[in-house]
Amino acid sequence: MTRDTDDETDGTGAQSDESEGRASPGVPTAGRDEQPSISVPDDGEAPEADATTGHGESPAAGDSAERPATDGGVESATGGSESTELDPDAYDPVDVFPGGDLDLRDGADSCYKCTSCDTACPVAEVDDEFPGPKFQGPEQWRLKRKDDHDIDESITSCSNCMRCDDACPSSVPLSQMHNEARGQFVESQMEKLSVEYVRNRILANYHTSARLASVFPRTASFAMNFGPVRWVMEKAMGIPKERDFPEFATETFREWWKARGGAQVENPDKRVAYFHGCYSNYNTPEVGKAMVRVYEHFGYEVMVPPQKCSGTPMFANGMLKDARRHAETNVESLIEAIGEGADVIASCTSCSMSLRQEYPELFDIHGIEDVSEHTYEALEYLRINEDLQGELADARLADEQSFAYHAPCHARNQGLSRQAVETFRDVDGVTMEDVGDSCSGISGTYGWKEEKYEKSMEIGEEMFEHMEDAEGDVGMTECPTCAMQMEHGTGYEIKHPLQLLEETVGA
Ligand code: SF4
Ligand code: SF4
Repeated sequence: MTRDTDDETDGTGAQSDESEGRASPGVPTAGRDEQPSISVPDDGEAPEADATTGHGESPAAGDSAERPATDGGVESATGGSESTELDPDAYDPVDVFPGGDLDLRDGADSCYKCTSCDTACPVAEVDDEFPGPKFQGPEQWRLKRKDDHDIDESITSCSNCMRCDDACPSSVPLSQMHNEARGQFVESQMEKLSVEYVRNRILANYHTSARLASVFPRTASFAMNFGPVRWVMEKAMGIPKERDFPEFATETFREWWKARGGAQVENPDKRVAYFHGCYSNYNTPEVGKAMVRVYEHFGYEVMVPPQKCSGTPMFANGMLKDARRHAETNVESLIEAIGEGADVIASCTSCSMSLRQEYPELFDIHGIEDVSEHTYEALEYLRINEDLQGELADARLADEQSFAYHAPCHARNQGLSRQAVETFRDVDGVTMEDVGDSCSGISGTYGWKEEKYEKSMEIGEEMFEHMEDAEGDVGMTECPTCAMQMEHGTGYEIKHPLQLLEETVGA
């Protein structure tokens, strides 16, 4: 099998040189990642411009409008105010956020302690030791500006599901505060040689393990689920043996894309740049293939730009320097595609959330606002720009299919909680049942930690029950880790809405 060595830009020596050694146009180098690397393979290949559709021109390095960002909060956080009063005028926000001019103090002051966020937090519901989002957000920041206060370790128990953001009636930037606090805790207070740090770093850098595993996918899939290996992983690293590692595809999405000769449709008026993320590339290329076929069916020219991990698992583990390094490559690559007329689409709702919200909240990188404004979830984009209902009006599946649909928390945060149900509910031969608004419980890497496994399953219990009550035994969701949890808790096969759309439009 031929390996597509340009399949990602992560881990490549040439890209790494670029990231570490010289600034890309418009990308500031201040505060660059100096987090020590862990076993990242180096295949020596640089990303290639023709990994898109051959449109290789870079956009002008245009404006570099300054925008508020805290740059991850990974620098020493506080000089501390002398005052111990909670008088807003007594604090200097620059002391709290030396890397930028965004002042989360205002957000903290907007909290009126209604506790709606605490009520919505799935972790607080099952974990008596977790003080909840109100404490993790506004209260920690109030403490922090009074004093050079340590971040409470409990921040590492926040799963970054972002349900608290949705619940807050006062628009307190809770998940941003949590990401900042977690980044500072990991950077300044976490022991870098601890098993927990090493385990979390490996989980956060899933793309590295997946890249290695995809060299020998069948062997890796077997080894990663081999009982004695799992026992050792649990004892030595705290990765629960109950979890099933996902299979690695024998042909990655990018290998498939290259083998088919890239885009089959050219259309300068309808272009999309596909952000496939790690999971669609290494584990479920069928989702990426469905996306390509569906979009080409609707006349889109699909571009597949060089890309790294979206950073989602890094945010959740406080690895903000890793996340920034990846974000720099992604932003640089995606603004090039945007400059060629493309919008960015992602098939994973956590990837679209990351590009849309977390990037501009946490990093100050040239072009990051453009990427945020041009990013959509893949089904959302079609619903906005195409007459999907008209297209599906006469569609009929050969065999009737029933789905138990779970809306991921990050889809809810983007206002997409009903999109799959609304899209397919009138299609002949399809029954689509929403299994409710509970969290699946896995939250990316949260449920992959031995000490969190039972809580993760407890959170997911309501969803499992609703799935089992629903007609049929196929689940549906846009999030790959929710899909893992759904399969783990029920044994159901899980599909992505794009796979059903591919079937229904006959793409
Ligand atoms: S992000 Fe999720 S787990 Fe974290 S505090 Fe908010 S609701 Fe709780
Ligand atoms: S929901 Fe918002 S206003 Fe209410 S306690 Fe939480 S952060 Fe404060």
